[in-house]
Amino acid sequence: MNALAATSRNFRNAARILGLDAKIEKSLLIPFREIKVECTIPKDDGTLVSYVGFRVQHDNARGPMKGGIRYHPEVDPDEVNALAQLMTWKTAVADIPYGGAKGGIGCTPRELSKSELERLTRVFTQKIHDLIGIHTDVPAPDMGTNAQTMAWILDEYSKFHGHSPAVVTGKPIDLGGSLGREAATGRGVVFGTEALLAEHGKSVKGLTFIIQGFGNVGSWAARLLHERGGKVIAVSDITGAVTNPNGLDIPELVKHKEDTGSLLNFSGGDNMDPNDLLIQECDVLIPSALGGVLNRENASSVRAKFIVEAANHPTDPEADEILSKKGVIILPDIYANAGGVTVSYFEWVQNIQGFMWEEEKVNNELQRYMTRAFHNIKNMCKTHDCNLRMGAFTLGVNRVARATLLRGWEA
Ligand code: GLU
Repeated sequence: MNALAATSRNFRNAARILGLDAKIEKSLLIPFREIKVECTIPKDDGTLVSYVGFRVQHDNARGPMKGGIRYHPEVDPDEVNALAQLMTWKTAVADIPYGGAKGGIGCTPRELSKSELERLTRVFTQKIHDLIGIHTDVPAPDMGTNAQTMAWILDEYSKFHGHSPAVVTGKPIDLGGSLGREAATGRGVVFGTEALLAEHGKSVKGLTFIIQGFGNVGSWAARLLHERGGKVIAVSDITGAVTNPNGLDIPELVKHKEDTGSLLNFSGGDNMDPNDLLIQECDVLIPSALGGVLNRENASSVRAKFIVEAANHPTDPEADEILSKKGVIILPDIYANAGGVTVSYFEWVQNIQGFMWEEEKVNNELQRYMTRAFHNIKNMCKTHDCNLRMGAFTLGVNRVARATLLRGWEA
């Protein structure tokens, strides 16, 4: 099922559980604004190449719209739309004063040089600078983008509007980034996992974990789980997969990937077929890469007890049903990966205050937000007798609906 259909289906189920008025349901589903721009740049050899850039601003009832910018070949309008909608529910679940947005450019960043990426980012910023802003829409990194990308956006935006560090988050520390932002999504995944496991009388220590994706989110989650005594028995990325049933030495694996550019041929493990990764036996499976990876085809073969959705929409609604029948407990994306946007909020607050927090304060606050959100979700699960996904969706959708109603409908 395509990402937008899947996300909208979850939203509609939540709206039905909440008994939302049809007018509000319709208005919450339609994005506030969809932007599509042509971005043409000269390549390093002088030839011109054109890309399409998107920014979907989904909802601003609770505050400025917030969400990442993704550089990936699969970026398309439906996908960006779905991701923008997920950001609206995610910021509401985390209870940070934002709405939701998402952007992207359909490109393969690995095939572009640094100067080509810089030109592309600057052209994209020129096309959207009037539609983003500190109190309007605040971009951040996502797949294929990073702190450097945010630095270029900040610089280009500032040419039009003056120095405005709070217009993007996930910036380099030297330009007003927050300590702890780089690890925040992975750290939030671990705080969420701990809250879930505690509910089941378990802790990370001694449990087995499989992580799909070893980019920013997956690698930080792996490092922090390893630090807490979790056994990460398999990980994969675009280059392949590696396994060790006794637990991989994650700091060594991170070093191996830095040295060789790949997870493969790691001396502390064996190469494995990445297609088998999701169906290996483990306590906790953490998809941290693309959407739709758990689907009708593979869901019945999954042998994990818990799934923690570090990626956005990794589980198709059809897979959701199959997994729930098998008794697999899923910690949903709009909660599990909310640590990134939560620390983005802390970064924005620090920029507006012109004050910098210690990393310990950032991490402690993140833990407080993640733990509070988990308990809020559990309360919704009890009230509505539903699973964690619907607990999170009803929590988020209800908060946005309330804000919308309070603002009123008068034209
Ligand atoms: N791209 C991240 C997400 O999907 C972070 C967004 C942000 O920090 O605004 O949640």
